[in-house]
Amino acid sequence: MAHQVTFIPGDGTGPELAEATRRVLEATGVEFEWDRKPAGEDVYAEEGNPFPDRTLESIKRTGVGIKGPTTTPVGAGFRSINVQLRKELDLYACIRPCKLYEGVRSHFDQVDIVIVRENTEDLYAGIEFERGTKGNEELRDFLAAHDAPLRDDAGISIKPISAFGTDRIVEAAFDYAKRNGRRRVTAAHKANIMKFSDGLFLETARSVAERHPDIEFEDRIIDNLCNQLVSRPEEYDVIVLPNLYGDIVSDLGAGMIGGLGLAPGANIGTEAAMFEATHGSAPKYKGQNKVNPTALMLSGVLMLRHLDEGDAADRMENAIAEVIRKGEKVTYDLKPSRDDPTAVGTSEFADAVIEEIGP
Ligand code: NAD
Repeated sequence: MAHQVTFIPGDGTGPELAEATRRVLEATGVEFEWDRKPAGEDVYAEEGNPFPDRTLESIKRTGVGIKGPTTTPVGAGFRSINVQLRKELDLYACIRPCKLYEGVRSHFDQVDIVIVRENTEDLYAGIEFERGTKGNEELRDFLAAHDAPLRDDAGISIKPISAFGTDRIVEAAFDYAKRNGRRRVTAAHKANIMKFSDGLFLETARSVAERHPDIEFEDRIIDNLCNQLVSRPEEYDVIVLPNLYGDIVSDLGAGMIGGLGLAPGANIGTEAAMFEATHGSAPKYKGQNKVNPTALMLSGVLMLRHLDEGDAADRMENAIAEVIRKGEKVTYDLKPSRDDPTAVGTSEFADAVIEEIGP
């Protein structure tokens, strides 16, 4: 039976990338029934809402979506659709595999790690007290009464980390490890300094690990982890982190495997899963059939695995890897020089992957 999937092309270069990805996904032979729905700048210009209710309703109905990037205007305009999506659907786990494919230029020889980032808590929870406001003053009064006076010109951001939030993200990391034949989960934290937030994260992670004796577990202090990742990346496998560290280490990982054009992602919750590239809408290349669709295609591979289409996922990933390894029909960012005249466009890259997948 065909898989029902909400298909969100996005804006900027999103529609080109999404179209290339859709064609490759269909070339695997897996059947899809796409429910095409808008989000982003273009629908905002037409309807005054960048994230229409019908788009959210569709994801709630299908439970699975694939999304091209969407632009978030700086300053005025609208809130990030990605943040809205995560909140509305409680997509608490962000999974970002960082794998170095042969043929990609990188300072590293071997990278194959999976970042599992908590998506809902930590300093990203948006609990902030601007300096000079009444709330800020009340909070400072409270803190002063608890032996923690702050300067009166301090802005304050709160860092909540709960046992509930940690339990489910670490469980998601072990679940990913099990489903994907991974051998070890590393929890990253700064529990030596933030005893009641990161300390709780570590303590909870340890107790989740006890439920999974078949997978190795270890922990690292976040600064040490960064140091080790760039000196001995081959020693790491699945890494689970609170929101802020996860955000930073995801970009570090993307840099290690050759850049944003290659970094896929999945945001997973209890009710739905949304698959999208790590990068943004690269608006300056809009309509030019130029940017690299690999990140969104690899997000499609993650979607296939999520849909239990493991065989198709392997074939699609191998075909993408083969096109990159050959290095001929690849986009400008994968060529030795950025103005290489032999670089192909987004859609020709997709054609090459489809040819590799074969009939
Ligand atoms: P960006 O990721 O869109 O692009 C930065 C640069 O990276 C591009 O100019 C390009 O040189 C390169 N790049 C990105 N994707 C590439 C690809 N597939 N192939 C080749 N090169 C690629 O980042 P930005 O310019 O900071 O953000 C543009 C918009 O995207 C902003 O509005 C931002 O808020 C939004 N954004 C959306 C998402 C999302 O929808 N998930 C994620 C991040 C940023």
